Amino acid sequence: MTAAIAPPEASRDDTVLDISGLVRHFTGPAGTVRAVDGVSLSIGRGEIVGLVGESGSGKSTVGRCAVRLDRPTAGSVTINGRDVTRLSKRALRPLRKDFHLVFQDPSSSLDPRMTVGAIVAQPLRLHRLASGDALRDRVATLLAQVGLRPELARRRPHELSGGQRQRVSIARALSVDPQLLVADEPTSALDVSVQASVLNLLVDLQRERHFGCLFITHDLAAVEYLADRIAVMYLGQLVEQAPAAELFADPKHPYTQALLSAAPVPNPAAQRSRARIVLSGELPSPLDPPGGCRFHTRCPLAVDRCRTEPPALRRLAEGGGRQVSCHLVADDGTAPDAAAPCPVTINRP
Ligand code: SF4
Repeated sequence: MTAAIAPPEASRDDTVLDISGLVRHFTGPAGTVRAVDGVSLSIGRGEIVGLVGESGSGKSTVGRCAVRLDRPTAGSVTINGRDVTRLSKRALRPLRKDFHLVFQDPSSSLDPRMTVGAIVAQPLRLHRLASGDALRDRVATLLAQVGLRPELARRRPHELSGGQRQRVSIARALSVDPQLLVADEPTSALDVSVQASVLNLLVDLQRERHFGCLFITHDLAAVEYLADRIAVMYLGQLVEQAPAAELFADPKHPYTQALLSAAPVPNPAAQRSRARIVLSGELPSPLDPPGGCRFHTRCPLAVDRCRTEPPALRRLAEGGGRQVSCHLVADDGTAPDAAAPCPVTINRP
């Protein structure tokens, strides 16, 4: 279980999202899937936090719990100082304008029977924030802000391209000026050629409107470009969290080192000189996660202690407030290099 830690850049008053000790388990015929197991994370106003990890690490479940599309098994979710963890749907309704989720696939999240104009207007109508001409003007402004021509308001989602549909989702999410936006792989269903323009749009809007953003992705290049801080998840838990520049310059956790070693970098010479860390085996099942450190079955640096003792997520003594959960990372930030494992490695399940 991790401790609740506020972002170093933000004061308590600036915190828009505070997730503390979040647990989400799903129980079915095959057993209990421990999708999220003790995640604590805060986001300040105007801050973009990137949440990265392999598919199956639990990052989307964190995102869904953050906007209460999913109810946590334990732990708490506080938005703008209000604990929303156990509020009923009815009690949540008036608060929903403060937080929105942009889904991975805009095709499935936009109602095909509605026009684009009606989709963007829907949250404004629901929260009674505009009507009549004011509503029409607001929709036209929002479409312009996301780079869509006003006449598209009369079209339906299937008449638009994937990139245009995602712009509509973003316009809808931002129509009520939320304080928190959770974007779950917002570009992964789009053509590579339009991914950059949608990311640029998100960054421009975030800098202009200053909302807090949880950006969930497996795209490390995207997260390096836009996030202020990055949290790395492995098998339902956070293993490292640090300001983006520090994490990319000097990853401490062996899993973060492996993830970054596999990511393409813009400089081909740097790419060639960088040692690639290939992890053995697949991500273990969250139905039966390994004991001790959950990463020990794949960690090139694992020692006996790792198999029995779970490492705590500790704040290191460096300025950026980095947190790491690994027995081998010292409090002063000294960390072994997973690309050069020590001879006592026991990389066995
Ligand atoms: Fe986990 Fe041990 Fe590897 Fe650190 S060295 S990541 S504690 S298995």
